[in-house]
Amino acid sequence: MSMDVSQSEYFKVVYKKMKKSNEIISHSGGFPNVSSDLEEWPVCDSCDEEMSFIFQILSKDLPLPAPIEAMQLFCCLDSDCETYKPNSGSSKVHLSKVQLQKELMKPEDIDSLEQQSISLKKEKFETEGLSSDEKYEKYFCDKFYGEFVGANSPKKVECSHCSKELTFLSQFSEMDMDEFEEWFISIIQICPDGHEAVFQAVRG
Ligand SMILES: [Zn+2]
Ligand SMILES: [Zn+2]
Repeated sequence: MSMDVSQSEYFKVVYKKMKKSNEIISHSGGFPNVSSDLEEWPVCDSCDEEMSFIFQILSKDLPLPAPIEAMQLFCCLDSDCETYKPNSGSSKVHLSKVQLQKELMKPEDIDSLEQQSISLKKEKFETEGLSSDEKYEKYFCDKFYGEFVGANSPKKVECSHCSKELTFLSQFSEMDMDEFEEWFISIIQICPDGHEAVFQAVRG
């Protein structure tokens, strides 16, 4: 099933500090919940180290193509790895097609980012009559859907399964991502039919 979210709406990301918890919620940092379709912690192709967990978003909070239940983002934070390139092997967007389970994956020696809950606030995306500066001021934020707002455009990527062009799903830049370059905007693009999603980053 394809996504039916109108491009005139977006979901603004609101982060909130939280105590460590085993609850299954949309959150950044800390640890992901396990699903049976992701049994191994993702490892970076370039440096062979375990990637850092960035966030997980549940489909009850954000419309995602069925049958996706949750999306989890992992990135290598080693500055020598080319995480910013799409399909670099230094990032992984896991689209879980089964429900996340309570137990957390806990590799021994991985740096975890500060844990924050994520809630999503639905807003209209009105760009008619706005200059690019005004658009940047108003819509440059951590968000899902709407459209990408930034000085440089993301690279076009095709789905490796169906060859359709991946569509814009998300951009973020202000999360507490240790060692991430601040001038990068992180972007997730997704296949309209939900086969896969890909991470990349562009200069702001
Ligand atoms: Zn790496
Ligand atoms: Zn596809």
